[in-house]
Amino acid sequence: MASQEIEALGSALARLPGLGPRSARRAVLWLVKRRETALPQLLQALSAVQETLVECSTCGNVDTRNPCGICADPRRDQRQICVVEDVADLWALDRAKLFTGLYHVLGGRLSALEGVRPEDLAIGTLLDRVAEGGIDEVVLAMNATLEGQTTAHYIAERLENSPVRVTQLAHGLPVGGELDYLDEGTLAQALRARRPMS
Ligand SMILES: [Zn+2]
Repeated sequence: MASQEIEALGSALARLPGLGPRSARRAVLWLVKRRETALPQLLQALSAVQETLVECSTCGNVDTRNPCGICADPRRDQRQICVVEDVADLWALDRAKLFTGLYHVLGGRLSALEGVRPEDLAIGTLLDRVAEGGIDEVVLAMNATLEGQTTAHYIAERLENSPVRVTQLAHGLPVGGELDYLDEGTLAQALRARRPMS
């Protein structure tokens, strides 16, 4: 029988996505065996992230600096903004390295059922970014749900009188940033075949 502390570590790890109780127990055992080497490294990495994690005040990405690494990268196309629901979508899209512009994280989707209104999302800051000028295209990359599409239409409407091209992915994104399950070819195709919002 493991001690209370070891049990607590196990249940904390078991809450991580993709890690059930069994894998968590194996991870605990692995760490216990390497308490001199791997454990200090993990502790240091965790506390470094906890201390430095910050939300980018421009795009809403989560990074260890503000502006985030993407917003601060001069090689990225400053004239394109890809709008996503969650940080998970941004990370997954960016990992695929298919989009070279900037991002904007809404922090959710409009939902009458859950009482999420436009003012609850980062829509105002998106409109501000567009109003500042220098943006040619806004790519709406919402999830392929009714709520995601409602959100996309709402934003397109708000941008109607702006001199920007508003486009939408040919296919919506899988729900909840589960882009890992989408192969790169499909995603590339969805981006390439993006179409104007009507
Ligand atoms: Zn940013």
